[in-house]
Amino acid sequence: MIDLRSDTVTRPSAAMLSAMMAAETGDDVYGDDPTVNALEAKAAALSGKEAALFLPTGTQANLVALLCHCQRGEEYIVGQLAHNYKYEAGGAAVLGSIQPQPILAAKDGTLPLDVVEQFIKPDDFHFAMTRLLSLENTHNGKVLPLAYLQEAWAFTRSHKLALHVDGARIFNAAVALGVTLRDLTQYCDTLTICLSKGLGTPVGSLLCGSKDYIERAKRWRKMTGGAMRQSGILAAAGLYALEHNVTRLQDDHDNAAWLAAQLKAAGVQVSSQNTNMVFVRLPAHQAEPLKAWMRGKGIVLHTGAVTRLVTHLDVDRPALEKVVAEWKAFLASQPD
Ligand SMILES: *Cc1c(COP(=O)(O)O)cnc(C)c1O
Repeated sequence: MIDLRSDTVTRPSAAMLSAMMAAETGDDVYGDDPTVNALEAKAAALSGKEAALFLPTGTQANLVALLCHCQRGEEYIVGQLAHNYKYEAGGAAVLGSIQPQPILAAKDGTLPLDVVEQFIKPDDFHFAMTRLLSLENTHNGKVLPLAYLQEAWAFTRSHKLALHVDGARIFNAAVALGVTLRDLTQYCDTLTICLSKGLGTPVGSLLCGSKDYIERAKRWRKMTGGAMRQSGILAAAGLYALEHNVTRLQDDHDNAAWLAAQLKAAGVQVSSQNTNMVFVRLPAHQAEPLKAWMRGKGIVLHTGAVTRLVTHLDVDRPALEKVVAEWKAFLASQPD
């Protein structure tokens, strides 16, 4: 199967599985799992934060992050299409009584700071208290510019807001810019990282922040059911991924650029390509037949008004050559 729906579909490699099999474990609720402790220490060091916490999913890591930043009746400013507003089942509102204040992102994925400023509520009992600005990097594959991160940092300092980055794919941003993770994360208070996207682990996310913040996060992780026992088996996959699967993200970006160019040359309307994602517009009548055609050839696509194709470590260049060849064959089979 060649699966281009998401970079979440990656499966652990033989080498990652053997690292997992060899992991030393303990009960992490007692703080006794050496492999989890090593992963958290590594994440803290890489992000330049004092501490880090291992959680089962990015959704839970973002929820715990919001619960730590905002009390009941407080709010966070976030993008309309951000994962931790739109795609996490309203968890912050449902479970934390935290009010989201969504705003539209600019074309480049940034939240314009002059717009953010207009939505910061004055300290008046009519309003929820604005506590946090939440950014997403990458957003739909778009890398937030370093200069913007710096401005957002200064902006939040002067408005007494905390700054959280949903960095599910932040390593894609670091690799695309040719900078270290720290170069990006120096401009936020807290961040989440997904290990189970392009980094290729089966499970796991990290929340990074100050020591005090991560201590508070441990209570919320426990309450939301995310404190695990011999989770060193999963953390070993994370350590393996941070060691072996970061710099290779460039291959995914190069493959996405190649795929975009090939499809464009074949007459497909490619609307954009950012890091490891290609977005194409299909004529409405083609969406379902293309999906079925590709399925028949062992290629899985999630087609719609906008079709997102995601490259990752389980699709190499020959696999993409097959995708392009089958796409062309499909187009040739269509009546004019
Ligand atoms: C995938 C993703 C998450 C977390 O997803 P999980 O499936 O819960 O791990 C969070 N934010 C963004 C931007 C994501 O793409």
